[in-house]
Amino acid sequence: MSARAPPRRNPYTEGPESPPSGIAMTFKLPDLPYAHDALEPAVDKTTMEIHHGRHHKAYVDNLNKALEGKNDWSGKSIEELCRRVNELPADIKGPVRNNGGGHYNHSLFWEIMAPKGKGGSPSGDLARAIDADLGGMEKLKAAVSDAGMKRFGSGWAWIIVNAQGKLEVTSTPNQDNPLMQGLAEKTGTPILGVDVWEHAYYLKYQNKRADYLAAWWDVVNWSKVSELYASARKQ
Ligand code: MN
Repeated sequence: MSARAPPRRNPYTEGPESPPSGIAMTFKLPDLPYAHDALEPAVDKTTMEIHHGRHHKAYVDNLNKALEGKNDWSGKSIEELCRRVNELPADIKGPVRNNGGGHYNHSLFWEIMAPKGKGGSPSGDLARAIDADLGGMEKLKAAVSDAGMKRFGSGWAWIIVNAQGKLEVTSTPNQDNPLMQGLAEKTGTPILGVDVWEHAYYLKYQNKRADYLAAWWDVVNWSKVSELYASARKQ
């Protein structure tokens, strides 16, 4: 421990200040688990570059900014921040709802996609639950696409594991998600989410959200969704 004050930083040349270690945790933009063009043709390279590098990055940066100096909250996981969003102080509730939701939602979204042909298909317990709870794969796709189509404006369509351990399809507006107790219509643990904001599809599909949703099933990483299902059932 040195008694000397640290040298003054120049934020323009040295970049953003990182918090003193052991005091605050800051969120980081996760790397994509594949190249930007890996999801073509369902999702185009430019959309992925902007969506991950600019939109998701902005959610992360704004979330960190909102939590600055909020030591009761800044060390919490993103899941806990989402679950307890209604308990947050009024001055950060809105920014954490939007940007924390944005960070959680996009982090999940990148993980549950994979290049066409690489995502496998649902198997084992998940396959059985899809049949038992959602009436099979075709009905699952129809229900998720329908939830995405009916979401007016911006939002997400989801498959969640609900409190009874059953699969359910739901949707949320903006960057809300089904972890958000007291805000989401249906709460549970998301195992699949599809972004229906225009920024997710407009460059390639323009206003044709239905075409985007139809193509999107080609790039679902069902191996990852199966993993998420297994861990949600253990909670
Ligand atoms: Mn998005």
